[in-house]
Amino acid sequence: MMFERVAFIGIGLIGSSMARVMKRDGLANTIVACARRKETLDACVKLGIADEVTSDYTASVKNADLVVIATPVGTNEEIAKIIAPHLKPGAIVTDVGSVKQAVINAVAPHLPQGVHFVPAHPLAGTEHSGPEAGFPELFQGRWCILTPEPGCDAAAVEKVKAFWLKAGSKIEIMQAEHHDKVLAITSHLPHLIAFTIVGTADDLAEDLKQEVIQYSASGFRDFTRIAASDPVMWRDIFMNNREAVLEILQRFTEDLTALQRAIRRGDGDSLQTLFARTRAIRRSVIDAKQA
Ligand code: NAP
Repeated sequence: MMFERVAFIGIGLIGSSMARVMKRDGLANTIVACARRKETLDACVKLGIADEVTSDYTASVKNADLVVIATPVGTNEEIAKIIAPHLKPGAIVTDVGSVKQAVINAVAPHLPQGVHFVPAHPLAGTEHSGPEAGFPELFQGRWCILTPEPGCDAAAVEKVKAFWLKAGSKIEIMQAEHHDKVLAITSHLPHLIAFTIVGTADDLAEDLKQEVIQYSASGFRDFTRIAASDPVMWRDIFMNNREAVLEILQRFTEDLTALQRAIRRGDGDSLQTLFARTRAIRRSVIDAKQA
């Protein structure tokens, strides 16, 4: 038994997958699920992934030795303010947010002395949401990045790390700001591109739009899957990783302009050189077992 009492604030795709790992491996004596909507809580009971359910944040964290915040990152400050006075001394608070520095800024100042905050980001997910979408193998073979602040309790970091190892993840410890830069290019920009392409197709004339859907297998389909991700979650990611995303977007725009110029000038060599380089990158992603 790793934890006596675990409280999940927000129990959708990520929270419920973590709860499933805890149930599968007997890592927690009691799991409490906290969410706003009755449908979410009823689903947790039906799925057998929580022992107790409540929509009351303060009641959920009472006596919990681990609190997992797994809601869209824009909610984290409000949640931290509400739960802070009710946290057990020595409790560990962790999160799963896709942005780290803004979450640390939002949560850490509110937590009382003696409560340990260990921010985490599992690099795993699907375009589906809610407790029904979760599955315990979600984190298998995937990276989980921890971004504890200097001076964070080492034993608390070890405990969070131990959970993610049980979930099958590979662990990396990183500075939050660095995490946000890496994720801006590996995750946030690709999502932004997918949202743009699918939005542009939707703006096209009605007959062409139908053809886009009909022939989507030729590349567009993968973008529609990514662009189907939760709108609130992604709004919050872009609102909370503004600087890193804008910086990477600037570079991307410059590279896109260079490609545009190559096409206009009939410079096939430049295009082929780039495409050969990107093909090799795909190979290394496959070799790293992240495909
Ligand atoms: P999800 O499936 O939509 O679940 C979100 C959970 O939070 C639900 O239980 C929802 O239940 C609750 N919630 C939503 N809005 C809330 C609010 N304003 N206040 C309180 N509770 C709220 O989301 P998810 O995919 O698990 O994502 C959760 C976190 O994980 C996000 O911070 C995201 O950045 C991060 N993350 C996601 C992925 C991914 O691929 N999906 C990957 C890695 C990390 P109610 O609506 O009933 O309250």
